[in-house]
Amino acid sequence: MDTFDYVIIGAGSAGCVLTNRLSEDAGTTVCVLEAGPRDWHPYIHLPAGFIKTFHMKSINWAYQQEPGPWTGGRSIYAPRGKTLGGSSSINGHIYNRGQRQDFDTWAQMGNRGWSYSDVLPYFRRMECRIGECDETYRGRDGSLTVTTMDWKDRLCEAFMEGAVSLGIPRNSDYNGAIQEGVSYCQRTIRNGLRVSAATAFLNPARRRGNVDVRTHAHVTSIIFEGKRAVGVRYVKGGRGGTPVELRARKEVILSGGAYNSPQLLQLSGVGSPELLQSLGIEIRHALPGVGEGLQDHYAPRTVARVKNIRTINELRQGWNLWVEALKWATTRRGLLSLSPTMVYCFWHSGETTESSDLQLTFTPASYKEGVQGQLEDEPGMTVASWQQRPESRGYVRARSSDPFQPPIIQTNYLTDELDRRVIVAGMKLARRLLQSAPLAPYYAYEDFPGPKVQSNDEFLAAATERGTTTFHPGCTCRMGPADSTWAVVDDQLRVHGLQSLRVIDASVMPRMISANLNASTLMIADKASDLIRGRSAAAG
Ligand SMILES: Cc1cc2nc3c(=O)[nH]c(=O)nc-3n(C[C@H](O)[C@H](O)[C@H](O)COP(=O)(O)OP(=O)(O)OC[C@H]3O[C@@H](n4cnc5c(N)ncnc54)[C@H](O)[C@@H]3O)c2cc1C
Repeated sequence: MDTFDYVIIGAGSAGCVLTNRLSEDAGTTVCVLEAGPRDWHPYIHLPAGFIKTFHMKSINWAYQQEPGPWTGGRSIYAPRGKTLGGSSSINGHIYNRGQRQDFDTWAQMGNRGWSYSDVLPYFRRMECRIGECDETYRGRDGSLTVTTMDWKDRLCEAFMEGAVSLGIPRNSDYNGAIQEGVSYCQRTIRNGLRVSAATAFLNPARRRGNVDVRTHAHVTSIIFEGKRAVGVRYVKGGRGGTPVELRARKEVILSGGAYNSPQLLQLSGVGSPELLQSLGIEIRHALPGVGEGLQDHYAPRTVARVKNIRTINELRQGWNLWVEALKWATTRRGLLSLSPTMVYCFWHSGETTESSDLQLTFTPASYKEGVQGQLEDEPGMTVASWQQRPESRGYVRARSSDPFQPPIIQTNYLTDELDRRVIVAGMKLARRLLQSAPLAPYYAYEDFPGPKVQSNDEFLAAATERGTTTFHPGCTCRMGPADSTWAVVDDQLRVHGLQSLRVIDASVMPRMISANLNASTLMIADKASDLIRGRSAAAG
């Protein structure tokens, strides 16, 4: 049986960073197991390929959520990357860290070493920021390139002028001192190509002799001796493939993401005793918090029809697409080098709200049924709006003891009253932004939710009818003190009550942050690598 110092389950955002950092020590051996294939598909690397990989089952787990009490009976689609780079290989490229208070709250919840001042050095260390910035907050020398959108668009400019006309200032860096304001988005795109966790962190590490990357390796359980994790079982090639066992000399690290990590713990006998018993899984270690506490951002998308200008909906049609393809091939610029969202706006839902609790994004394009993945034919523009720090929580539970069955995902969007209030405020602000004077030359009419929607109840009904995930699930293996009922890992990300097993990915966030999750997941993994190696950020 092959033995490594560290066996990492999942080569996603976190797994790629961990593989890189842990293998810096030449005497340490690392094996990373990825259920999906290599990231060879060209649509992964072409920024606009997002629209294709969104539904591409060969590299996407393509989960369906359970209908929730406030999703109008709908089962919402939940894509997740299943390839080297994980979700960072199919995500929308946005680089957004969140606010100081997000991490200070993590620390207040009993997690030493996770306040903003603790995590800032890791954000800085991993970043290669191109463009103007305050280096108190931004890094220049890391592996993760972050650029600002360089495609100046008249509709985007008019949207930002509209925001300013409503009193929302322009902010040159929402990842700097303060988040509030409006600006072009910052993206993990360099020279017209996606910067995934695999291209930034895994590929450089693969050249080292002490790294073994195994694809098509679906881990089905963690092997324990007593309370100590000693290895994993995986199936090469998916269901019906060859079973393989690996040993971990030092640690098993679970980085399967917010849906798969809790499912794999449960399949391995770690979780709520009632759930495990109901599935006929032998209880290895009772830990009721596993899978509980799921949070995500829920976004209705307000859509307006556009006049007097061409939107992306038309620009990607017919001959024009060929022109754009040629432009990308020769200059790496143009339509195909764009992220699906172009402008970011952070604002607050009420005058008494201390820091921005609303995130709005603008795109000079519109999608069928408001779901990203299929552009409409007629000209359109979209503002997605969501509450940054929702209170509602759901769960992820194994559906059966079969490791190839997707888990049950219930996010319980909008079940908390505060979430419903803030989502309505967001939709109202989206309407005001689209109807602002600077956008008037281009604004034809509101298509969704439409002018008939006026009261709070009507806005809420519209949100229920058409809201979707923004693809930010987290908090299903939460970090917290051992004496809490909900925590799964401690502040070193070690699973409570077990040895030699850590969970390191978006699932350990104790509470949702005011941001898209890629940047902070990378930061978590980078910090965790120092915790494992007994180093500090200053050591480089
Ligand atoms: C469509 C989409 C758009 C997004 N847009 C943005 C954005 O613009 N900006 C942003 O910041 N965030 C965005 N996100 C979210 C962000 O990319 C994720 O939060 C982040 O990548 C999560 O990292 P992770 O390491 O927790 O999980 P992942 O990156 O999902 O990695 C988990 C890895 O583990 C593998 N795995 C799972 N189970 C097993 C198993 N049993 N055996 C072996 N391997 C396994 C998976 O295949 C995957 O490769 C988006 C996500 C999606 C899906």
